[in-house]
Amino acid sequence: MIPTKYIFVTGGVTSSLGKGIISASLAKLLQARGYEVTIQKLDPYINVDPGTLNPYEHGECYVTEDGAETDLDLGHYERFLGIPTSQANNVTTGRIYQSVINKERRGDYLGKTVQVIPHITDEIKRRIKLLGGRNKYDFVITEIGGTVGDIESLPYVEAVRQLKWEMGDQNVLNIHLTLVPYLKASGELKTKPTQHSVKMLLENGVQPNILVLRTEHELGDDLRKKVALFCNVDSDSVIQSIDVSTIYEVPILMQKERFDVTVLKKMGMDFSGTPDLGPWNKFLKRLHHSKISTKIALVGKYVELPDAYISINESIKHAGAANECHVEVHYIHSEDIDESNYIDLLKEHSGILVAPGFGDRGIEGKILAARYARENNIPFFGICLGLQCAVIEFARDVLHLEKAHSTEMSLKTPDPVIDLMEEQKGITEKGGTMRLGAYPCIIKKGTRTFEAYGLSEITERHRHRYEFNNKYLAAFENAGMISAGVNPETSLVEIMEIPTHKWFIGVQFHPEYHSTVLKPHPLFVDFIKSTI
Ligand code: GLN
Repeated sequence: MIPTKYIFVTGGVTSSLGKGIISASLAKLLQARGYEVTIQKLDPYINVDPGTLNPYEHGECYVTEDGAETDLDLGHYERFLGIPTSQANNVTTGRIYQSVINKERRGDYLGKTVQVIPHITDEIKRRIKLLGGRNKYDFVITEIGGTVGDIESLPYVEAVRQLKWEMGDQNVLNIHLTLVPYLKASGELKTKPTQHSVKMLLENGVQPNILVLRTEHELGDDLRKKVALFCNVDSDSVIQSIDVSTIYEVPILMQKERFDVTVLKKMGMDFSGTPDLGPWNKFLKRLHHSKISTKIALVGKYVELPDAYISINESIKHAGAANECHVEVHYIHSEDIDESNYIDLLKEHSGILVAPGFGDRGIEGKILAARYARENNIPFFGICLGLQCAVIEFARDVLHLEKAHSTEMSLKTPDPVIDLMEEQKGITEKGGTMRLGAYPCIIKKGTRTFEAYGLSEITERHRHRYEFNNKYLAAFENAGMISAGVNPETSLVEIMEIPTHKWFIGVQFHPEYHSTVLKPHPLFVDFIKSTI
């Protein structure tokens, strides 16, 4: 085992350049050379975690095995690497300050003035080293959220400066991602924003080792040389990251740019040989050369921002590739669906997926979508709130409990078929208080769900407060909607299905957090298959 090497990925010029994908791609290349790699994201906002953020603000909240509510980039890390992340892989400024303030209250600082340097920066460094310290990983890649030059990012850049000084360039590397814009009027690619952004890093005491330039057009040798000269990096350390049709191409492009070789060389490591990307390339082939296609309706209320459903989207891509099928996903806003138009909106689709969510906005549209799928034998996949909507629909239309609802939406419903979990009653704080993370589930043999998984014992990740109300289970099962999976310890219903339907499965958990490029999720794979 080599001592852990630390790589920091910072971003300049603008946000949304894809630091997460660059980090995940580098990690993939190192992993494909046989190294143990993990990726961490440091987020400069004050929220303790993104769990309390509206998806419109920051996209999806990704949940780890250990129940941490984290940034959506962790989803990319897991999907690329196929190894789980944890609470330690996502740290926010809020969490850093919370620890420092707790220590101060305990008196741990022995009367000293508590300051950004050294106390906040020490806590940042401790959180970074925590992942390497266990000597589990050869590389810890830390992505620093935000853009260099933001006030909020300063303590993080300072922590990088200190670590570089303490451990040396062979052990601590900074990769800086910037944008090279193309000016149509003059037909030129411009390097000035990159130069300025590197200058900003230098002002903060950090000389980047490698520059990754995001661009819409090929960068010539002259441009690369110019950037190397102005920004004080080696000429092989200017890497091009050109726009591609899918994020899953990026590791291949980065390999062509010898990104992994440059990193290994700089860190004094063996760079001979090539990463084994065989299975990855096989996936890409299936993704690009699909023989058939299918249309899925994704019904949700955050559809204006596809990042809000990013794990579901990626899971659908993985499942499409597994079936060698191109999946066209149409987003349908649940608030737009009503009795007058639901048939027109939904009829073109071979499958309907009702997405997770919170609160009652758009809930009746989701319930209608479930009804349409059930009545017309159209494959239906309900995830979390999507399952709950299917249950409410079945209660109202099949069990004739016309006012059935979830107590999340209607406290006064006479038939709370979805109700608050016992342990949730009395909880008033919002942050980190849901049923979160991985729980076991036993699948009933003979069900469609069992056929899809091929297993009877699974674990899946959760993020919800409400659950199926077991008081109604017998009535549901007698009428044809059965429980296909339960939690063995609590008997909470985790999966409902209609065995007589073509494919009708609702899950209380989030299977989308488990789908990876090389291991697509069986429920998504089977759902897509049923729509073909
Ligand atoms: N709002 C529902 C609950 O809390 C569903 C949550 C979700 O879809 N993630 O139970």
